Amino acid sequence: MGNLVFADQRGRIADHPTLEMGGASGSDWVRVPDKELIALPEGARLFTMPGAHSVGWNTALCTFEAVKAVGRREALAVAAFLPPGYMRTHLPATFAPSATPYLPLWAYTAVGWRDGQFVTAAVRVDSMDHQEPWQYDDRTLLPLIERRLAVQPNNRVWHQIKRCATEYHCLCAKNGFYRRWEAPLPIAFACNADCVGCISLQPDGLVPASHERMAFAPTLEELCAVALPHVTEAEEGIVSFGQGCDGEPLLQGDLIEAVIRRVRAETDRGTIHLNTNGSLPRVVERLCQAGLDSIRVSLNSTQPDLYAAYYRPRHYGLADVIASIRTAKDLGCYTAINLLVFPGVSDREEEVEGLLRLVAETGLDLIQMKNLNIDPRRYLEGLPPRRGRAIGMRELLRTIRLEAPQIDIGYFNRPKEHFDRSFSRALVF
Ligand code: SF4
Repeated sequence: MGNLVFADQRGRIADHPTLEMGGASGSDWVRVPDKELIALPEGARLFTMPGAHSVGWNTALCTFEAVKAVGRREALAVAAFLPPGYMRTHLPATFAPSATPYLPLWAYTAVGWRDGQFVTAAVRVDSMDHQEPWQYDDRTLLPLIERRLAVQPNNRVWHQIKRCATEYHCLCAKNGFYRRWEAPLPIAFACNADCVGCISLQPDGLVPASHERMAFAPTLEELCAVALPHVTEAEEGIVSFGQGCDGEPLLQGDLIEAVIRRVRAETDRGTIHLNTNGSLPRVVERLCQAGLDSIRVSLNSTQPDLYAAYYRPRHYGLADVIASIRTAKDLGCYTAINLLVFPGVSDREEEVEGLLRLVAETGLDLIQMKNLNIDPRRYLEGLPPRRGRAIGMRELLRTIRLEAPQIDIGYFNRPKEHFDRSFSRALVF
């Protein structure tokens, strides 16, 4: 088993000599089975959790126990943040003696120490290697940025993508400059939802947004000047509306439709993709008819009350989101959901049943398992009472495989060259 780890006030991490690392499923502390631990993947980061202590399992006393101090100083809990392609199976087990400010928007994951290395509670869900750390080197990126901006110095979309590549380290934005794989087309400055964990806008100021929402409406010319070279030149090129710095792209439906028609008038090459909250099925219909190749609709739950508690939608509801998924699939679009997963919530029996029902009713192609970036306490406090037993996150994956073997499980958007390929089939859950 992994040993519990904790940190001192200077962030120095140590492992506990006797306590086993704990994990959490929702607000319940649980032991993490040894076989569910993997070596901390390259590109992961470690965080301390101010105001919270690590909780571990005392095997002698058969009880959970918090590590509150290192010598005379307070000991802090430690969490891992996973790189793309991995789904966490357990939250960190923590104990906070008093109410503390909410933590920033990261997906906090249980971490421990075993056999001389850090281990974490996670599973790889996608074997596509486009976002591996070794694919990115800012020493080669920066000259490319200079070159692109020298050619189009007044294109605000390129300037926005530069900001995303260099300040937020968005890998899709970096791809835009490398002219390969998936690149963003930021387009929307407004949204019709108010997600508790929105990374581009936190109006109540409880935590900082990790991106600043873009503040302008691009023109058709600016967008096409980015999109056209990408789809015509990039290897397995995808241009994606709706990224971390965006609002909701469906609110810019007319402009997206114009971009699709302009690009498709020039070339059949490349994939035109939309990341969306799926709130406006009629707009989705128009975009599919214009030539949208693929769509990814985000949701945290198939239960209307859980969905509404997190998305806080304005003038639409979960029924519209499901209608968008169905419409896109019916019109021949490759259709994925971006399932914002959270241990102890997404793996509850009612959620699993709802997810399988959604798959059966819509025939969607891919479920992307995305760790929800939010302080676990903040998410759980905002949810209505949850029903049913949590079956475990790995069991959720196995159940999907068993009950809906036709659907792909993964993490990343697919270029159309790979619409019929599974990047998770060979992975063991
Ligand atoms: S739908 Fe997207 S842009 Fe809108 S509030 Fe939610 S996370 Fe933010």
